[in-house]
Amino acid sequence: MKILLNNKSLSNSLRPFKDIGFVPTMGGIHKGHLSLIKKSNQMCKKTIVSIFVNPKQFNNKEDLKKYPLNLNNDLSILRKSKKIDFIFLPHFDDIYENKKKSKIYINKKDKILCAKFRNGHFEGVLDVMNRLTKLIKPKKIFMGQKDFQQFYLVKRYLKNRYKSIVIPCKTIRDKNKVALSSRNQLLKRSELIIASKLSRKVFELKKEIKKQRNIKKFLIIKKNEIQKILKIKIEYLELRNITNLEISETLNRSKIFVAYYINRIRLIDNF
Ligand code: AMP
Repeated sequence: MKILLNNKSLSNSLRPFKDIGFVPTMGGIHKGHLSLIKKSNQMCKKTIVSIFVNPKQFNNKEDLKKYPLNLNNDLSILRKSKKIDFIFLPHFDDIYENKKKSKIYINKKDKILCAKFRNGHFEGVLDVMNRLTKLIKPKKIFMGQKDFQQFYLVKRYLKNRYKSIVIPCKTIRDKNKVALSSRNQLLKRSELIIASKLSRKVFELKKEIKKQRNIKKFLIIKKNEIQKILKIKIEYLELRNITNLEISETLNRSKIFVAYYINRIRLIDNF
């Protein structure tokens, strides 16, 4: 596992290889990340993982400040996995050395779910993914479906610009059905229990939805109900079609998307 600390060593080290699988992360490595790495390892000859907490995608300074970072711990987990050829640990200037201001806009139609509530977030994500893809030139990029909207927007953005293909990977959950996330490290035990209750409730909802005539109304009622019972703030709870992310009136090719706050920690998931 070779550690690459700047663009020069990145381009020198990757030059001989064509079949590169890329797993972008912001650190706080957990089994969700490891599942992406495993898939890359199966599908590509070489695997590179990046750890870069991209300040441009944080719409909230407090969120960036408390984002869990423990590089030594991450490197030790990644080394043990024995599945990684390269780790890229760029500095801000490696990514943003090309000062050209990127013109990335999210259409009005796409200002839904997290794009509606996190102003500038996906513009920052697309910007960094554009820059990382240009530098690494991977054959495949592995992204988690836990962040489905991110996967959807990145795939569409890169499609006409690069040959790299974005591969979706399934969500890894803990034994209590909570989707693994670096942000879970910020939760107390009692808060993790609330996250687990939320997950179980939304899994149940998915079964109940089949019997509903007016799904939109049903989800509004359930959103209020869950907020009251779990004493949390739910930002959105919506059934959307996974091919275009439009509001869906059927379970067919659709998922329930949820974003919620437990105290000041914002979590997202889809079911
Ligand atoms: P992050 O470090 O949170 O930016 O995540 C890096 C990548 O790991 C993204 O493509 C995420 O969607 C993916 N990921 C995060 N959590 C999970 C999970 N529980 N299961 C599968 N993939 C995940």
